[in-house]
Formats: sequence, C-alpha cells, structure tokens
Amino acid sequence: MNFEDLNLSKELLRAIEDEGFTSPSEIQEKAIPTLLQGNVDFVGQAQTGTGKTAAFVLPLLSQIDFKSNEVQALILAPTRELANQVHEEIRKFGKNLDIRTLTVYGGTSYDKQINGLRKNRPQIVVGTTGRIMDLMKRGVLRLQNTKQLILDEADEMLNMGFLEDVQEILKALPVDRNIWMFSATMPKPIINLVNKEFKDPEILKIEKKSLSNADIEQKYFLIRPKHQMEALCRLLDYETDMYGIVFCKTKREVGEIGSELLTRGYKVDVLHGDLNQSQRDAAMKKFKSGYLSLLICTDVAARGIDVNNLTHVINFGFPQDMESYVHRIGRTGRAGTKGKAYTLIDPFQRGKLRYLERFVKTTLTPAKLPTVPQLKVALVNKELARMSNLVDSVMEKGDEFKVDETYDVFKESLQGLSKDQILKVLFSQKFRKDLRRYQDLGELDAKDTGEKRGGGRSFSGRSGGRDRKRGGRDARGGGRNNRSRTGGSRDRKQEDSGSKGSRRGASSTRKPRPRV
Ligand code: ADP
Ligand code: MG
Repeated sequence: MNFEDLNLSKELLRAIEDEGFTSPSEIQEKAIPTLLQGNVDFVGQAQTGTGKTAAFVLPLLSQIDFKSNEVQALILAPTRELANQVHEEIRKFGKNLDIRTLTVYGGTSYDKQINGLRKNRPQIVVGTTGRIMDLMKRGVLRLQNTKQLILDEADEMLNMGFLEDVQEILKALPVDRNIWMFSATMPKPIINLVNKEFKDPEILKIEKKSLSNADIEQKYFLIRPKHQMEALCRLLDYETDMYGIVFCKTKREVGEIGSELLTRGYKVDVLHGDLNQSQRDAAMKKFKSGYLSLLICTDVAARGIDVNNLTHVINFGFPQDMESYVHRIGRTGRAGTKGKAYTLIDPFQRGKLRYLERFVKTTLTPAKLPTVPQLKVALVNKELARMSNLVDSVMEKGDEFKVDETYDVFKESLQGLSKDQILKVLFSQKFRKDLRRYQDLGELDAKDTGEKRGGGRSFSGRSGGRDRKRGGRDARGGGRNNRSRTGGSRDRKQEDSGSKGSRRGASSTRKPRPRV
C-alpha cells in the first residue's frame, strides 16, 4: 500500500514524500482510514517504533480548520522529549499547511508559553499533563471548544502516574469530544480508562512482529577474531546499496572499528556513550540524510536512533545478551522489504549460536563470505557503476566534454602509450591494492568445528571456557598445541592481541580510498 491510497491531501503527501517515507507502516495503514472518517474514539496498540505518531498526526492535520483560532486539538504526552517529538512530526508533516502548534511542558518559564497561547493562537497544543493543568487553571488555556484529545504513549503516562491528571483534563473538554489513544501495551488501568471515558471506541491492535526469516534474512559467518575486521570490509565491498548499522559490544570496539574503516576509505561514523549530544546529533544527521551509509554503534547508543528502515544490521560478534540481538535486527526488514542481519561469530563461541537460535525461535543460516574472485568482480563493478554517469556524459558530449586545462599536460605525458596500456595504468592505480589484499589474505571463513565440540549451552561459566580451549586447538590445527589447560586461554589472548596488531599494521600501509 502507498500513502496515495490513504486519501490524504496533496499538501500532506508532499510532506510525507519529503520525509522519505515510502509506504505506511501497518498501524498507519489501518488507523489512518478509520481516523479520517471523523467523529470516532480510537485505541491503537502497537509496539514502540512502529510509527504511531504519524498514524495520528496525519489524520489530525486532515481535520483541522486552519481559519479558526480555537485550540482544536490537545495532545498529551508523558515527557517533554516525547511532547517535542510529536511537535516535530506536526511541524514536518504540516509544513505545507497553515498550521499553528504550541508545545508546553514544565521546567521552563510560563511567560513564553502563555505568550505563545495568547499571540500565536495555536490550533494544536501538545504538552505534558502538569503544565497543561497549570495553564488551564491560570485561565490562559481554554479547552471548551477542543473536540479532539489525543493520548500518546498512554502506558508511559500511566507509569508516570499521570492518569488522574488525564481524567482531570478530560473534564474541561466538551462532552462531544473524541479521544484517540496510542499505547505500546494495554495494562488494566488503561483499559479501565477506555471503558470509562471512550464512546464505543474502535480498537486496533497490531500484533508484535515476530523476527521470522520471512522478514529478515539471518545469516552467520564463522570468522576468527583477527579476520573479523577484514571480513566486515568484504561484506561492505560486496553488498550493494547498504544502509546499515554495525553493532559492537563496547565503546572501545566501536572506536577501533570506526577509525579502521575510515582509514580504509569507507564513509562511516560512530555512536557511543562517550560522545556528547552535539556529536551524536551530527553523526545522526549525516546518517539520516543518507550521506553516510553505515554507522558503528553500541547497543545503548543505538537506543536513541529512530531509524528503522535499515537494509543491513551487522553484528560484530555476539551481543551481550539475546534480547539485544532481537532489538538490533528488528531495525531492518521493515515496510515490506527483506532485511539482512549478519552476525560475525568467533568459532570459539560457536556454542552460543544454538542458545541464540532458541531464544529467537528461528535458525540462522550458515554463510560464507564472498570469495576472492567474487570480491574482485564486485570491486570492479562497483567502480564502474560509480563511473557510469561520467562515462555516459563523455559519450554524449564527445569532444565537447569539458575537462581542466591541465588535461593537456596529462595527455602529453601518456602520449607514447597505447589505449590498452593507458587502461592498464589506470586499472592498476585504481584496483591493485584492494585486489592484492583480497588475494594475499585469501579466503577467511573459519572451519566449522561443529556443535558437539562447542557445546550448545553456555553463555558464560564453565562450558564456555571449555569451548574456547577446544576451539583454540582446532583453529590452530593440532600439531604443536599439546599444552596444558591454562595454556589454551593464554593462546587465545595472544590471538586477540595479534589481531589488533595486524589491524594496526594493515591500516598504516594502506592508503584511504573513498567509497560510497
Ligand atoms: P512509535 O510512536 O510507534 O514508537 P514513532 O512514531 O516514533 O514510533 O516512529 C518511529 C520512527 O519510524 C520515526 O523515526 C519515524 O520517523 C519513522 N517512521 C514512521 N512511519 C514511517 C514510515 N511509514 N516509513 C518510514 N519511517 C517511518
Ligand atoms: Mg510514539
């Protein structure tokens, strides 16, 4: 379904398009037609991140009388941040309309808000309950003609103890008001409120999305830690049109991977807890605008990201807990497109896989990295795709194609070479390093030591330790490895630091090459 099928005005459709929304989410698809009918009480339940805000903002903007100076709609939100988010959506979707909105909340001065109410004459007021009530008591916010009340994130409102306030505010509205409510969950007190205050409400519940393979292609790659960085690059090199997040467990890992990818010429940025708000905002802005196609994040930092239309989620190793895996990969595979969730797994930790699969109730498909020949072809093809506009325009303009005056110097110096020789020079200059890197490192997939050895159980504790030792022996290929038990874990440490060493070594010898 498209937004065009939803009977929204041209002005709204234009704003939606500018926002980059291509198709409505499930709650939008189902709620918008109902709410557009008008004169309806409504309860919409859907999990966080499913687009509930636009589900009510779009029909609300469709019913506002822009000529009127009355407060026609009141939207209650549990926190200042959420109130601001709603305000922001109204601003974005209402940008082609003559709409006036005011957002009010506690903790800031009354003057500006009171002035806003008096002078701006908002048709929509968004706010937190406490400040709304204060403004009502002061007589500056009059709601006797406010026929539309919207309760956003109602379960949060309950958690914060605001339900009584809501009932108080309801008393100030006319009897023929309509209430729309949105919530991720429906605890008892909310149901009671609905029974008491709503008139014959339409109830819409969107079932929690399961993370089945129908929506998300979940694959895992067995890669030893020292090759995981290169494996990541190979996935980035091979996949096309990637718009994704690489998840790491720690801030340090995020920093390391981010700077290594930058050194290698990938356009990426990082998000983790040590960055301040403006650094985060800057990174998010670049990512959302599409300037960056990849973010490297920790789980915590990613929680604030309201981007859900990713093509890829890449897990650099297992997440700390299984719940995080679900959150991570749930950011892809939305709105009808199949997402890709790739997990790079240290073969030593192979045993955790089954635990994860049980948790997500689905199996992850074992996958191999693209082979060296495949990577080589992809590298050349990507570059050709990047050049295609230029090639087209040279073809079209022929001798008219304008280049810099210095072109003559360049041409002169290559005069003695045949066309084929010139192409060879350019090809080598462009590709030699990467082709050689693929070639030198060869295939990186680790041998699957199988589940029996890895043990299917542990996430920590004893059998986890055993996993490592066994894996260590296998990965090293027998022979010289007749060491004691403790020796096994020492080996592993060496391997880890070896991996960092090789990363650093690699980066210092490699020149940056810009990629998209
Ligand atoms: P909820 O209130 O259900 O938690 P939000 O309304 O905050 O969800 O939306 C979550 C994110 O999804 C926001 O960044 C929003 O811009 C985005 N979003 C909402 N609807 C769509 C859509 N149809 N297409 C693409 N992105 C959308
Ligand atoms: Mg919301």
